[in-house]
Amino acid sequence: MKIKICPKCGSTEFESFGHYSAPKLLRCKSCGFENEIFPEIEKSKLEKLKKDLVQNSIRNKKIGKKLRNNPKY
Ligand SMILES: [Zn+2]
Repeated sequence: MKIKICPKCGSTEFESFGHYSAPKLLRCKSCGFENEIFPEIEKSKLEKLKKDLVQNSIRNKKIGKKLRNNPKY
């Protein structure tokens, strides 16, 4: 079974929003990240991915200054 996951915070709670004239968007209920498409993963891999995301966010805070100057991000 696959579930949608927020690439920013690992949350699996979303709400949809958008005008009738605009593409339908999903918004992460946890961090507010918005996108049309969210990645889907196997539910069994969710816990591992969440741990990875927490570690990544800690690492990103440490090198945040560097990342902001990188056009890739
Ligand atoms: Zn999120």
